[in-house]
Amino acid sequence: MPAREPDSAALLRRLPSVDDLLRRPALEELAARSGRSVVLAAARAVLERLRSEISLGAVFAESQLDLAAVESAVREEAARDTSFSLRAVINATGVVLHTNLGRAPIGAAALAHLTESARGYSNLEYDLAAGQRGKRDVHTARLLARVLGTEAALVVNNNAAAVFLVLHALARGGEAIVSRGELIEIGDGFRIPDIMASSGATLREVGTTNRTHLADYESAIGSDTRLLMSVHPSNFRIVGFAGRPSLAELVALGRRAGVPVYEDLGSGCLVDLSGCGLEEPTAQASIAAGADVITFSGDKLLGGPQAGIIAGRRALVERIRRNPLYRALRVDKLTIAVMEATLSAVLRGALEEIPTLRMIRMPAAEIEKRARAFAGILASRLPEGEAEIEVVAGQSVVGGGSTPDQHLPTFLVRLSTLHFSADEIEACLRESPAGRIPVIARIEEDRLVLDLRTVDPAEESILLEALLAVLR
Ligand SMILES: *Cc1c(COP(=O)(O)O)cnc(C)c1O
Repeated sequence: MPAREPDSAALLRRLPSVDDLLRRPALEELAARSGRSVVLAAARAVLERLRSEISLGAVFAESQLDLAAVESAVREEAARDTSFSLRAVINATGVVLHTNLGRAPIGAAALAHLTESARGYSNLEYDLAAGQRGKRDVHTARLLARVLGTEAALVVNNNAAAVFLVLHALARGGEAIVSRGELIEIGDGFRIPDIMASSGATLREVGTTNRTHLADYESAIGSDTRLLMSVHPSNFRIVGFAGRPSLAELVALGRRAGVPVYEDLGSGCLVDLSGCGLEEPTAQASIAAGADVITFSGDKLLGGPQAGIIAGRRALVERIRRNPLYRALRVDKLTIAVMEATLSAVLRGALEEIPTLRMIRMPAAEIEKRARAFAGILASRLPEGEAEIEVVAGQSVVGGGSTPDQHLPTFLVRLSTLHFSADEIEACLRESPAGRIPVIARIEEDRLVLDLRTVDPAEESILLEALLAVLR
């Protein structure tokens, strides 16, 4: 213990100056590599932080202020400023459309089209045949019409924007009738009633939480009615004494009353996934049932880029397109490129090109084979008796606000070790240093759990090395 703690005024005098720091050879070299302004800003930030820590009494020894210690803090600060914040991670959770991990990964074919078309100039809004201005919608509209069997389609920033735009363009100043059982929150605090209110459409709620009858819609129809709206309850289920009219019944009512029917499908499944045990209605089925307009996400079950798709009758889609807000909500060329490639894969039936669908459709037996091989290699590279590694049956989750109670059978690699708790391993995998890919894993019953369904086979060796680096 020092005989007397230095007071804060003395400590503040001890702080190096910005110039002292910038003259340090290591920081001069860093400035030559990363730019003087980066090092200058880092030095100022570190000194500012130290000053406030001194006045709070958090710095109490002169040794904490020596040049070498401050220099290394500046280097760390500069490294943070110059490394990317958005990083690739390995998703070993088995949640396919993980909202926090960027939902749908983009496949190689779509990335190739993105690189090819975005590297230089493109015909984004140029009609090559006519040699004059064109529309950006054409690149996806034709494919969407073919895949969905609709007359017309538009792509906007996301499905929340699509819902907003449809209501704004078709129901503003009037009423949209919707069942009380469908007034859902779609996550992150966004609620269908709030989106409707901000669109300028009046929400006319009918029925009860668990049951809504066709007659409830019928008796609510009046001169202010602009839309009959149906929201696919994609992220929850009402079970038991529940019911609502079918889309076809709603369409028949809409036709009788001369009111268009709009369905927000949410997850936007375009291929039949019943073979994988998922009961998700397809967008094509809604169009076939007569829905006048539908909306759904681009990066849920479609497996494409973040986007919202609006499709349906030409006259209605044209009205939506002419709304001034479309200009504010439209997508950029990067999204168009990835969407075009994704839709092309759906049209050709090349579902293996779409990672989301590849992962959902991967049979449990194939995952078991991979899990057993992975567990074997991991065990062989750890000291005898260090870890207990097993492969057990479990469940993957589709996620992303789709198919809430539906799981996919899988096989999990389950791991416990002599020296580390599951929490410690999970945290070390996640907080990996720059240069190593972070791994996001699950913990069950105090054991680390890895689901290879969401790990690309090409990532397995990276996952293995990350685990070994943590466990050794
Ligand atoms: C997910 C979802 C949305 C929002 O879609 P984003 O693409 O996330 O904006 C809207 N409606 C329903 C029913 C959904 O499931």
